[in-house]
Amino acid sequence: MKMECDVIRDLMPLYAENMVSESSRKLIEEHFSECSACRAMYQDMLQPPPEVQFSKEPAESFQKYVKKKKRRFGWKIALITAAAVAAFFLFRLAVIGGLMAFLALDITFTPIEVDEDVQNYHLYMGENADQKYRNKWGMDETIFPAEISDSGNVLEYKMVYYNPWDAQYLSYLTIEYDDAEFAAECSRLESYDSTEYIGYYSVTGFAEGTELLAMYADSYQGFVYAIKTPERENTITYVEIIFCNYFMDLEYAEYMPAAYFPENFDASMDNPYEEMMEE
Ligand SMILES: [Zn+2]
Repeated sequence: MKMECDVIRDLMPLYAENMVSESSRKLIEEHFSECSACRAMYQDMLQPPPEVQFSKEPAESFQKYVKKKKRRFGWKIALITAAAVAAFFLFRLAVIGGLMAFLALDITFTPIEVDEDVQNYHLYMGENADQKYRNKWGMDETIFPAEISDSGNVLEYKMVYYNPWDAQYLSYLTIEYDDAEFAAECSRLESYDSTEYIGYYSVTGFAEGTELLAMYADSYQGFVYAIKTPERENTITYVEIIFCNYFMDLEYAEYMPAAYFPENFDASMDNPYEEMMEE
């Protein structure tokens, strides 16, 4: 029997895989019906191998370690977290607050520059003007005299500059000329290639009696013009109102006599012209 058992046991793996011949299979099964030892061995062979068991101890102890540390440092972690959160919000507040304060300061404390000293005219007008006055939104200012002549009698001069976000300029200059100079200046202004302006910023024209000598208007940036008012002889008033974005932050009416504005000029915030143009 022992030798047959050895042969059967050698064949068992092939038998289990169903890789034996029909005659071998019969032989093995006959043997199993007679030999309980081989049958038992075959049964054992069919059992799946026992699972490898790892100890859970290290993982558990690690968790315990963490728990212990947490308990011990819990208040510190909470404190550090709270401090970090507080710092984050304080920082944000500081940044936002700072920005708001800066913007508020910027609006509140942007000075409105007013200069009525005609000695400074060259700083405001022309090629040698200060940088911030040199290019007023690309507007042509050549209607204004290039410089103040010695013979001209300056009756009024005011330059107003305000730049809270975008630069805006409101200026006027009134000069009384002698006869010859007045004639020359009128001739210069008449030869100026004046532009359309009616309708811009709701403007309808000029007051009755006021003679418009020259006009450079831009449907967006405003007006530069020269007028002659009826009550003053040999006298010309030069005006510019320059801004952008369809309105002025400046309370412009406070800075120039109403008679020098074109009639119905409206560049206040939310003016009808702005609403029309932005549609
Ligand atoms: Zn056997």
